[in-house]
Amino acid sequence: MIKSLFNLFFPPACLGCSQFLSENEHVICTQCRHEIPLTNHHLDSENVAMMKLYGRLPVEHVSALMYFHKKGIVQELIHNLKYRGHQEIGTLIGNWYGNELKECAILKTIDAIIPIPLHPKRLHKRGYNQVSTFGLALSEQLNCPYDENLLKRVQHSKTQTFKNLLSRNEIKSHTFRIDTLEKYQNKHLLMIDDVMTTGATLEAAGKTLLEIPDVKISIVCMAMSER
Ligand SMILES: [Zn+2]
Repeated sequence: MIKSLFNLFFPPACLGCSQFLSENEHVICTQCRHEIPLTNHHLDSENVAMMKLYGRLPVEHVSALMYFHKKGIVQELIHNLKYRGHQEIGTLIGNWYGNELKECAILKTIDAIIPIPLHPKRLHKRGYNQVSTFGLALSEQLNCPYDENLLKRVQHSKTQTFKNLLSRNEIKSHTFRIDTLEKYQNKHLLMIDDVMTTGATLEAAGKTLLEIPDVKISIVCMAMSER
């Protein structure tokens, strides 16, 4: 009662276009939902996301739900999720995509969902990892555990002289670390992230996970830029 009165005076706005939502709309309006450019990657085992990592990282499956365009609805959604605390966007996208990914035979063998971690300083500042709610919703839909403790960002020391001696690629490969090689030996891990751009972060994180003996890797992102 109080909530509906509140909504009468302050109706919630769509997180894609800022128009007021009607009573049966949730998080994003029907029009935005229809205008979101979908990739349909999961229907194509040789999709462009897969091709981006070709020859760089051995993977079983790569897909993103949406295309990320500058100034588009998806950019607005990701911005609201990352910088304005709207974690409900991750839940919405995770439930939506998880429901479709359930049908992918290759994803039925997933043993755990592993988010790309934020740098601890950034996590402290933002208060949350923007892929957490996405991962938790996927975990529910795909019926497998979500593990945010496996993959960690490496804390670089202030003395960066050492860094100057390394090439860019070497630095990338020193970005992530894992503490245990036993837990997921011979398992299939699903790495998740918000937006896949060049794929460099996923490649570096994936290479770290590949230190686990006989591990298999798949990747699912909310969005992918075509760049
Ligand atoms: Zn809208």
